[in-house]
Amino acid sequence: MKLPNYVADHWREGSGPGAPLVDPVTGEELARISSEGVDLNNALEFARTQGGSALRQLTYAQRADLLAKMGDALTANRDEYFRLSLLNLGATQADASFDVDGALYTIKYYVKIGRALAEGKMLKEGAVVPLSKTGVFAGQHFLVPTKGVAVFINAFNFPAWGFCEKVAPALLSGVPILVKPASPTAWLAHKMVEDVVKSGILPPGAISLVCGSARELLEHVREEDIVSFTGSADTAARIRTHTNVVRGSVRVNIEADSINSAILGPDCAPGTELFDLLVKEVLKEITLKAGQKCTTIRRVFLPRQNVKAFGEAVASRLSTMKVGNPRNSEVKVGPVVNKAQQSACLEGLKKLQSECLVVFGGNERFEPVDADPQKSAFVQPTLLSSNNGLSAKYVHDVEVFGPVVTLVAYDDTKDVIAMTRWGNGSLVSSVFSNDPSFLQEIVLGIGDLHGRIVAVDSSVGSQHTGHGNVVPSCLHGGPGRAGGGEELAGLRALLLYHRRFVVQGPVNCLKELSCLCADTSLLYS
Ligand code: NAP
Repeated sequence: MKLPNYVADHWREGSGPGAPLVDPVTGEELARISSEGVDLNNALEFARTQGGSALRQLTYAQRADLLAKMGDALTANRDEYFRLSLLNLGATQADASFDVDGALYTIKYYVKIGRALAEGKMLKEGAVVPLSKTGVFAGQHFLVPTKGVAVFINAFNFPAWGFCEKVAPALLSGVPILVKPASPTAWLAHKMVEDVVKSGILPPGAISLVCGSARELLEHVREEDIVSFTGSADTAARIRTHTNVVRGSVRVNIEADSINSAILGPDCAPGTELFDLLVKEVLKEITLKAGQKCTTIRRVFLPRQNVKAFGEAVASRLSTMKVGNPRNSEVKVGPVVNKAQQSACLEGLKKLQSECLVVFGGNERFEPVDADPQKSAFVQPTLLSSNNGLSAKYVHDVEVFGPVVTLVAYDDTKDVIAMTRWGNGSLVSSVFSNDPSFLQEIVLGIGDLHGRIVAVDSSVGSQHTGHGNVVPSCLHGGPGRAGGGEELAGLRALLLYHRRFVVQGPVNCLKELSCLCADTSLLYS
């Protein structure tokens, strides 16, 4: 079976043998994908001229209604998405829920944003700026939806959420989308697009899908388009510097890899509530989606005297968790996505092991439950420990995109700030402490190199949303190595798909233009 592409309102099968989609547990081929022979330039042009113009006829609220119907169509097929997640990603129920339910929730959240924006063709930003003595001539900043296409090039680990978290703000903004899922796990995104297309909710050209290689796609993007990329830093660099992207100053949003961290405050000794909460969080981060989350904790900074107790607590719980075929209901940890990722993980793990102690796992030849180690793509959940993080080379640099976490000892706040910053720009760091001055020092010390900081004290306890959990109301993205992109954060996500401009003119004219704008005041408050 070859999964077709959806371009210019038609399903088109790519030519040639295509690339296989594989079950990471059994190694069996599930389907094939190919984008060969598909007219990518025409796909973009059709989306701009047909999809974009149809979407822009509507108000934000009307587009929110389309999004709501799209959410309903997807929700109706939730079980099928879980099935494909198991087949193509080896996802446990918890893994599939994190991706699929996260996707559906994000769509619903953006339906509410669109309805609150209600009427309007564009957005107004800030107040009128007086530019003349009498005030008759003034300036007003506006944000108008771009007339281009939003091109989504996605990573393999979140085929559902990665698709929906980008689609929702783009469609709400009136911008058509072309999604290119990562090849190894394209089936789930393909099925979601198929369900949306079948439901006939969106106007022709509003949604397009390319499965397989992106080929020369970027040669056809133009100044009014947006490229939103999620994936590795290497591919990100290629996209950012693509000649056509540079020539057209095409807007690019990059979500790349990230060496995230969690920090236990010096006040949290073994046996305290926060110590136990962080143990629980680290366990979740290692095991959920087999550590294949962009936000996964990679380094845990601990007061030196607590490293041993912390390692023992995590290791004893890890030892009870079954790793293997998620079709077995006792299994808690699934595989990584394919053999290539398994090799990349093992290679990275070797580097980390060269400067760390193994607290748990690290066995390349471990036996997964109900799976053939030769055919499957498992990595044993592994906990490492570094006594000398200040001179470590790999711990702060190598992203093992799998179930691997390193505990790093620290002696004082200055050191933990320095080491956290060596991630060179991260999506998220969590701080567990009841000491407000420690928290303040950390926030001021690392805030500029992080997109999100999660602070947990005893007043919050277990009510926090989770280190790895990206909520649509808050910013997702990070500076530096993490790509420098910004996604979600409620209404702010729509700004990527709008262009800011200022009109300098008669105050009366500005007032009339303002009447064309949706009211954002409630959403920014
Ligand atoms: P990847 O290898 O960089 O691939 C990402 C996407 O780029 C895929 O769709 C890939 O297509 C496409 N691609 C590759 N070369 C391209 C080119 N020259 N032009 C245009 N597109 C191209 O990354 P991945 O292995 O799928 O994802 C894992 C990485 O993503 C990890 O490092 C993780 O940290 C990061 N990630 C970050 C976030 C975040 O929000 N910050 C979220 C999830 C994952 P093919 O698959 O067809 O090659």
